[in-house]
Amino acid sequence: MINFTVGPVQSSAEVRKIGAEQTPYFRTAEFSEVMFENERLMKEFAGAGEKSRTVFITGSGTASMEAVVSNTLTANDKVLIVNGGSFGQRFVELCQIYEIPYSEIKLNMGCTLTKEELYKFDSNDYTAFIVNVHETSTGVHYDIDMISEFCKKNNLFLIVDAISSFLADEFNMEELGADVMITGSQKALACPPGISIIVLSENAIKRVEKSTVKCMYLNLKSALKNGERGQTPFTPAVGILRQVNARLKEIERAGGVSSEIKKIHGLAEDFRNKIKDMPFEIVSESMSNAVTPLHPLNASANDIFLRLKDEYGIWVCPNGGELKDKVFRVGHIGCLTTEDNDKLIAALKDMQRRGLI
Ligand SMILES: *Cc1c(COP(=O)(O)O)cnc(C)c1O
Repeated sequence: MINFTVGPVQSSAEVRKIGAEQTPYFRTAEFSEVMFENERLMKEFAGAGEKSRTVFITGSGTASMEAVVSNTLTANDKVLIVNGGSFGQRFVELCQIYEIPYSEIKLNMGCTLTKEELYKFDSNDYTAFIVNVHETSTGVHYDIDMISEFCKKNNLFLIVDAISSFLADEFNMEELGADVMITGSQKALACPPGISIIVLSENAIKRVEKSTVKCMYLNLKSALKNGERGQTPFTPAVGILRQVNARLKEIERAGGVSSEIKKIHGLAEDFRNKIKDMPFEIVSESMSNAVTPLHPLNASANDIFLRLKDEYGIWVCPNGGELKDKVFRVGHIGCLTTEDNDKLIAALKDMQRRGLI
């Protein structure tokens, strides 16, 4: 099997080896060391400030999205949410559940956020801004520099879901003035799903400290408190945290976050060049390095996904809802090589020869 989805993705041999080991007991100084190292490397790779903190939540990315909305926002906020697909919609629903006042910037499927659209909301009484910097469902990567400038100008608390973009695209919290960055273990971190990660700026920590969230499991104040001693309030996914540790150190040894972004960018460029003369249209206006969304000109996207899986042992990412037959996505994150790209291209060419695409 070759996995070109956007998560879970393929893990390195070192990460997989840890998955086969016994899970150690975790209320120990040794495990605290692992967690301190995880926090240090996450802060470094996110370009977070000295006084920022990182918490590790056992739960998929959505658990951290929920924790951030419920612990950093209140009914006194007025939030602007970029809603360009199913992940933007998720933040809209979270604000509804937690009764946080909001407005959405609703975008058409596959469309990026323009300056014109954004500045319609300039100089209003908003207090916070939420964006999925890479709206993975459509493959649109928003202009984060433009968003950052807008938020600085309007003094907005900036929450960024970088779950599928972290390690794939440039992102520096301090430079952007981002207050929260969220990511997950199963995207470019290339570990099994089960851990999501929240990096909080000093400003975000202040909001958490003041929060009166009514939730035991996703209480970030207690996560921060326990983190001071390298621990979590409850039993975490110990094995995955050890895999995250190995992977973060692997990235550090290979030259850090810029080398990782370069590698993923290279894989994406290689694939996009190789697909050029084939009957597909690249559908996104502004792409992340993490994924290429493709619209097949002569076939159903879902049929291609099924055939690649069942007849060629290759997984690409199907789309749901109204895009089911129109778009599938090819991921470039995880342990992949240009030779893997060649195998996918060869399979697509074979399908073309068979008259299937
Ligand atoms: C994958 C992803 C998530 C999290 O989804 P989970 O299934 O909860 O891990 C959130 N936002 C974006 C942009 C994603 O790509």
